[in-house]
Amino acid sequence: MLKPENIKRIVIKIGTSTLTHRTGRLDLRHIETLTRVLSDIKNMGLDVVLVTSGAIGVGMSKLGMTIRPKELRYKQAAASVGQCELMHIYDKFFLDYSQVVGQILITKSDIVEENRREKVENTFEALFELGAIPVVNENDTTGVDEILFGDNDTLSAEVAALVGADLLIIFSDIDGLYDCDPRENGDAKIIKRVTEINDDIRALAGGAGTKLGTGGMVTKIHAAEVCFENDIPMVITNGAKLENTYDIIAGNVPGTLFMK
Ligand code: GLU
Repeated sequence: MLKPENIKRIVIKIGTSTLTHRTGRLDLRHIETLTRVLSDIKNMGLDVVLVTSGAIGVGMSKLGMTIRPKELRYKQAAASVGQCELMHIYDKFFLDYSQVVGQILITKSDIVEENRREKVENTFEALFELGAIPVVNENDTTGVDEILFGDNDTLSAEVAALVGADLLIIFSDIDGLYDCDPRENGDAKIIKRVTEINDDIRALAGGAGTKLGTGGMVTKIHAAEVCFENDIPMVITNGAKLENTYDIIAGNVPGTLFMK
C-alpha cells in the first residue's frame, strides 16, 4: 500500500500516445489536463518532474513527414523541431497555472558517468529549490544509439533514482499490467500489485515468445526493475485518465503498483 505521507517527490512519465492524436498533432486536451494536475500537485507542496516523450512524433507532423524516417539524421531533425514545439506548449500551459518549467535533455552518459551525474543532480536540486518543474526528455538530437536509453520508460526510472523520487507514475495507453493478453482474452485481469520482477512477470510483458510485447510493456517492466533496485514504488496506469494522479498520491492505485 502506498503511503501518502511518504510521497514528497514524484516523477510522471507521459508517452507519445497520450500527448498526440493519431494524426501526430498535439492532443491539447490531454496536455491541458496534464499541466493542470501537475501544477495542482506542485501547489500541494510536492516536487514534480515531468518526463515527456513526443519530440520525434510531433516534429514529424510539423515537418510533414507521414512515415517515421529510417535515417538517423531525419529522426534527429524531427526531434529537434518537435522538442521546441513540446517545450513551447508546456511553457505556455504551465504558465497559465503560474508554474515555471525548465528543460533538461539527457543522454545515458549523463546518468552513468559519475561526474556528469553529479552535475545533472545539482541542476535538478537547484530547480526544485527555485520552485520550477523540470521537464525531461532524452537528447535525441545529438544522441546516437550507444549513448541513449532509447525509451523514456527506462529514462523515467533512471531519473526517479537520480532525484531520489518517492514515486514514479508511468502513464500508458493501457490500464496496467494484465494477467494475460487483453486483446485475446476477454477475461484478462489487471494485476493490482507486483512485489518483484521474476520470470513470470517478464513473460507477461512479452518475453519467451508470447505476443504480449506490444504497448511497450517490456520497457515498463525494465523501468520497474530499476525502481525495485532503488526502492521506488512505480505505477502503470492509463494516460486517458490523468486525473487519476490524485487517487494515486492518496494511496488508491487504479492500475498496477510495483512495490516491495
Ligand atoms: N525521446 C523520444 C521522443 O521524444 C521518445 C522515446 C519513447 O517514446 O520512449 O520522441
